[in-house]
Amino acid sequence: MYPDQDFEQLSAQRPTTSGRSPEQVLHEVFGYESFRPLQGEIIRELAAGRDALVLMPTGGGKSLCYQVPALVRSGTAIVISPLIALMQDQVAALRELGVRAAFLNSTMDFEQARATEYALSTGELDLLYCAPERLIQPRTLELLHDASISLFAIDEAHCVSQWGHDFRSDYLQLAVLANEFPTVPRVALTATADERTRKEIAERLSLTEARHFISGFDRPNIQYRIAPKTNANKQLLDFIKAEHEEDCGIVYCLSRNKVDATAKMLAQKGYTALPYHAGLPANDRAQNQERFLREDGVIIVATIAFGMGIDKPDVRFVAHLDLPKSLEAYYQETGRAGRDGKPSTAWMVYGLQDVIKLRQMLEASQGNDHFKRVERQKLDAMLGLCEVTKCRRQVLLNYFGDELEAPCGNCDTCLNPPETWDGTVAVQKALSCVFRTGQRFGVTYLIDVLRGSENERVMQSGHHQVSTYGIGTELSVNEWKSVFRQLVANGYLRADPEGYGALQLTEQCRPLLKGEHKVELRKDPVVKASAGRGSGGRTGSAVKDQVTDHAGWDALRACRKELADKQGVPPYVIFHDTTLFDMLERKPQTLDELAGVSGVGAAKLEKYGEIFLSAIARLDPA
Ligand code: ADP
Ligand code: ZN
Repeated sequence: MYPDQDFEQLSAQRPTTSGRSPEQVLHEVFGYESFRPLQGEIIRELAAGRDALVLMPTGGGKSLCYQVPALVRSGTAIVISPLIALMQDQVAALRELGVRAAFLNSTMDFEQARATEYALSTGELDLLYCAPERLIQPRTLELLHDASISLFAIDEAHCVSQWGHDFRSDYLQLAVLANEFPTVPRVALTATADERTRKEIAERLSLTEARHFISGFDRPNIQYRIAPKTNANKQLLDFIKAEHEEDCGIVYCLSRNKVDATAKMLAQKGYTALPYHAGLPANDRAQNQERFLREDGVIIVATIAFGMGIDKPDVRFVAHLDLPKSLEAYYQETGRAGRDGKPSTAWMVYGLQDVIKLRQMLEASQGNDHFKRVERQKLDAMLGLCEVTKCRRQVLLNYFGDELEAPCGNCDTCLNPPETWDGTVAVQKALSCVFRTGQRFGVTYLIDVLRGSENERVMQSGHHQVSTYGIGTELSVNEWKSVFRQLVANGYLRADPEGYGALQLTEQCRPLLKGEHKVELRKDPVVKASAGRGSGGRTGSAVKDQVTDHAGWDALRACRKELADKQGVPPYVIFHDTTLFDMLERKPQTLDELAGVSGVGAAKLEKYGEIFLSAIARLDPA
């Protein structure tokens, strides 16, 4: 998998040049022009020895917030990260930049661990990544006391929250750092945290004095789209074919069976689609993840077990075939698209059955009333996003306490505003039909009764005699499904917790039943041929779509792939697409010119400069 952590090579590298400014480190080591919003302030706070709590969307650039101070301050920065894959990638990427980084986790044998510990104690490391369970061992803490520590960075800090979906008990114990190392600055970072979780992080990690840095949550390059489910597989295929034919993406499903079936279906259509879920042998899982990271155009079909810590920058789409349980989960999962800032799509289909299934799962789950109430609110917010008729981004951002003044112009409701219709009468008919048939039937049956079906089941139960029989012929089956879906989504009907999908009235529906309230319903858009990539989007198109010199592009990518394979790292660890694109545009002829390309720092210039210059020299001058 990863090259051994070679310490001889490590010590040969340049020691920490303290006395460098954050800007110098940014230019020289990372090869970037300027800090992104908040990065500079956070880095200055930490460099000055103060604590910080950082809330930044995925792809916002959290890593730099501790990596730069780690190189500005003397001593070793300890980065606590829950996921081994992420840790290994980050260390590989840092070493590519010439930074003395290493990790300590359960994948290493005794010898390797000893060597890393020795490097720490002799001050040969700029950054040490460590799994939380490892860090809180008395032996590790003792080691840290003997070393010189520049800062602690606690990544994925929402893992301390017991209400969150990523709770890890090891994280709770990280509070010891405050007592044991009172003079070492600590920074907690997360991409998912509403205000309550944020308070929880601050309290549990003893970061009560820390300044909070909360960056805007918007991910303008992601186009959000949610459509009613008709034929999920076909919808998915149409979407990928029309907009992401050769792209890399993630497809999320709720169950392992569905993951397997969907991966198979895509593979039969000629896509490189690999399954990922907790039921697969660990080896297969690791291998599929590796291929996703390293090869081009791989689609991973996964349960939510996949994704945390995947920082592949060029994931072009995230598709949901099942509804996530909360907006937090939705935002985190869709946020894995487009970390490189290029146009990407968050695409989802959902239907009445999804709503019913999730509501039933929730009611059947273990957990006290408080827990269920919180979960119910979260699901309601998720459903609210699905059914909304105004800008989805505004609703999303608003939920996270962020405000977007004007509609975004890059979500489906902005691009293709849904119509609404006066559903007052239809809703009355639907609710009353539920009531007349005894609140014991599911949606298909209810629609049969409303539309006056003469099928056996209806006739036998005598429901052809109830007053709602046949009063709904003005709407098609699909239109009725949409009515029922919206009633369940908005909490006027609930699925029988005992199962079987029977719909029951809730307290809330009383005024609707009496026709006291006017009800506006969303008209499900007739699915037109796909809008096409980035149409109406705010940012140009994906890197590879901007390329005009395809031969040149392929040549540079081949050069990158060869280097990556040789070192056993993903291609983007060598250079990002954006960096290759910039090279192709500028066609630098000298090392100096190459240094001006974004993403080319000193170490990479030295290691790969000549190789890429000669690759560029061989390109067609066109
Ligand atoms: P996060 O951890 O917040 O999801 P990352 O730290 O992985 O995000 O950063 C996302 C991408 O943005 C990375 O590819 C990173 O190299 C790039 N990046 C971060 N800061 C800058 C910057 N100041 N200039 C250019 N690129 C940056
Ligand atoms: Zn919008």
